[in-house]
Amino acid sequence: MPNNCPCCSGKPFSQCCEIYLSGNAYPNTAEALMRSRYSAFTLGKLAYLKKTWHPDTCPELSAEDLQTEWRKLEVIKTKQGLKKSIVEFKAWFEDGGEARALHEISLFKLYKKRWVYVEPLDTWPSGSK
Ligand SMILES: [Zn+2]
Repeated sequence: MPNNCPCCSGKPFSQCCEIYLSGNAYPNTAEALMRSRYSAFTLGKLAYLKKTWHPDTCPELSAEDLQTEWRKLEVIKTKQGLKKSIVEFKAWFEDGGEARALHEISLFKLYKKRWVYVEPLDTWPSGSK
């Protein structure tokens, strides 16, 4: 049985995020990028997270920032644009034996022809479906 991808797509890792994390391909949608970043968080792939973060907003990341016990990803809503995209998701993690969710609306932008994560938005932008 193939291992399911950490991003909860239901696909095996080898047919989902692995190709991105290994650097053999780059996601061409914001959702695929977001999923691959979640997988990178669960697998502690620091270099991948930096590579997929907008340089203006990328924090100083270290391996200690990746200690969270991620459990599950739910993508709630996606709006894919040409230069800007938005993905709303819940990322579940374990905190002292309790399940908690990080609920975020994330902004992604096209930067040097590649999708990168920019920052969380407070609310889903009005006027978007
Ligand atoms: Zn995946």
